[in-house]
Amino acid sequence: MIRRYSKEINVGNVKIGANNPVVVQSMTNTDTRDIESTVRQIQNLESAGCEIVRVAIPDNDACQALKQIKNQIKIPLIADIHFDYKLAIESIKNGADCIRINPGNIGGFEKLKKVVDVARDFGVSIRIGVNSGSLEKDLLKNYGVSSNAIVMSALRCVEFLENINFTNFKVSLKASNVPLTIESYRKFSRLTNYPLHIGVTEAGTIFSGTIKSAVGIGTLLSEGIGDTLRVSLTGDPVKEVEVAFEILKSLELRKAGPEFISCPTCGRTEIDLENLALQVEESLKFVKKDVTIAVMGCPVNGPGEAREADYGIAGGRGVGLIFKKGKIIKKVDNEHILEEFLKVLKEDNILTD
Ligand code: SF4
Repeated sequence: MIRRYSKEINVGNVKIGANNPVVVQSMTNTDTRDIESTVRQIQNLESAGCEIVRVAIPDNDACQALKQIKNQIKIPLIADIHFDYKLAIESIKNGADCIRINPGNIGGFEKLKKVVDVARDFGVSIRIGVNSGSLEKDLLKNYGVSSNAIVMSALRCVEFLENINFTNFKVSLKASNVPLTIESYRKFSRLTNYPLHIGVTEAGTIFSGTIKSAVGIGTLLSEGIGDTLRVSLTGDPVKEVEVAFEILKSLELRKAGPEFISCPTCGRTEIDLENLALQVEESLKFVKKDVTIAVMGCPVNGPGEAREADYGIAGGRGVGLIFKKGKIIKKVDNEHILEEFLKVLKEDNILTD
């Protein structure tokens, strides 16, 4: 796939756009004023591979908490601002690496200019975060909730920032409706070359939100659109990061640990494949190496179907097969197959103790 050309910007020490990998972001759901819980959640996100984190700044206390949060985390921090431009300015002064503003509710360009002046001084980038749920009144009146209204909201803001010579920004055009999200990003991506933060907003619970995000984000990425993303799920944000990397891995845009293949099972299945596949996945969850692992239900099609895999298991009647690059290297009774398989992975330094 050909990636849309985009300008490069920085969020702290992470580069976004141009030829940089598509960056994974998440957002905390703790009370930002509760520094301890927020830091703990960000550290969990860091362990899951999250590369940039955003926190909500609803008031001045949250804004003050940024200093201490920033000191205890490694990844860049974005302050999420709605309504009050003064909180944006204060957040920059307190160490935020990027400010997310919503052009629909920041209170006009005069106020935005004040934020930009400080962002420029501090070398901080901005995300223009348009949201279909909070569009400007005149756009809603003329165009309703539509991709044209979403794109125009973003374009107005882009034009304003360009006129005051500020181009250190990225743009998002989110809606909770997948077709509207895709249409808005497609339209906008043809009109500018600013980096795009993509996602489906308020996507839903882990099950439905994962599907909506995979379809929405996956469609855009497959068209080369998107430089950074957030999967938005109701629940533990660590799940957002896991889902984000699975989407990127499935499109071969990021390598982030093993890729698992397992068959859907059928009438030929000879082992408790569901459990075995889950156990293999669990045993390898801290592996960061780029390796393909297949867990297949039978010896007839198993190794053949997973020929591309680096390592694999194929269940058999009582005895299963362990294979490496399509070749059988061991025959083991089903009871010990997981143990033996992990041994092979340890011998090859894929898995460490
Ligand atoms: S690998 Fe074997 S058990 Fe799994 S779906 Fe294919 S034929 Fe069925």
